[in-house]
Amino acid sequence: DEATELVCRALSEVADVLSTHKDELTELDMPIGDSDHGINMARGFEAVREQLPVLEKGGVPAALRTAGMTVVSKVGGSSGPLYGTILRKLGITAKKMGGLTLDSFTVGLDAGFKGIQELAGAKEGDKTMLDAMAPAIRSLERSVEAHQGIAEALDAAAAAAAEGAETTIPLIARKGRASYLGERSVGHKDPGAASFAYCMAAIAQAYK
Ligand code: ADP
Ligand code: MG
Ligand code: MG
Repeated sequence: DEATELVCRALSEVADVLSTHKDELTELDMPIGDSDHGINMARGFEAVREQLPVLEKGGVPAALRTAGMTVVSKVGGSSGPLYGTILRKLGITAKKMGGLTLDSFTVGLDAGFKGIQELAGAKEGDKTMLDAMAPAIRSLERSVEAHQGIAEALDAAAAAAAEGAETTIPLIARKGRASYLGERSVGHKDPGAASFAYCMAAIAQAYK
């Protein structure tokens, strides 16, 4: 149906943006990681893209669940299970709330945030993708409150995520590989926060 096609268009936009910024994301992972984040993300979402013809034939929750499993198995690294958690929680929430609207997307993304916290023990300020997610979720919550349209709301959330990714630069990494560097992680943008901001921009693009 139309709702599933829209979700698949968003997944396709995400695959596009990650492939466009693959080298940049991998370079961000060089000084504070193991130089594979862009490669991981692009590989995983290319695998999702190949599944889209099949995913389009099911419903929204199934598409998100299957994409989540593919991301876990094909992205790999630490980011695979984390992005897989976001997709899985979005799927569960879409099922519970009867579809993917601005409201259920906001609730689902927040469930993804909490799922990552549980799985990986990170919190906002630890210099991870959560530092891009948290401001995006707060922005979406304000948009829901203000009854804003989905296109504008997603644009605002993408801007908030990009700003959130910038705020990771002066932080000391407390989780993941970058935390091994301690204070030497200061001065570098977190690759996972950068990739999340690109994903939000891609989702906003799909809803234009
Ligand atoms: P790996 O570190 O296994 O090579 P990637 O390079 O694909 O995996 O992903 C690294 C990103 O994953 C980091 O930039 C960070 O945003 C995110 N990340 C890693 N560990 C954690 C964690 N414990 N909690 C939240 N996010 C994390
Ligand atoms: Mg890495
Ligand atoms: Mg790695």
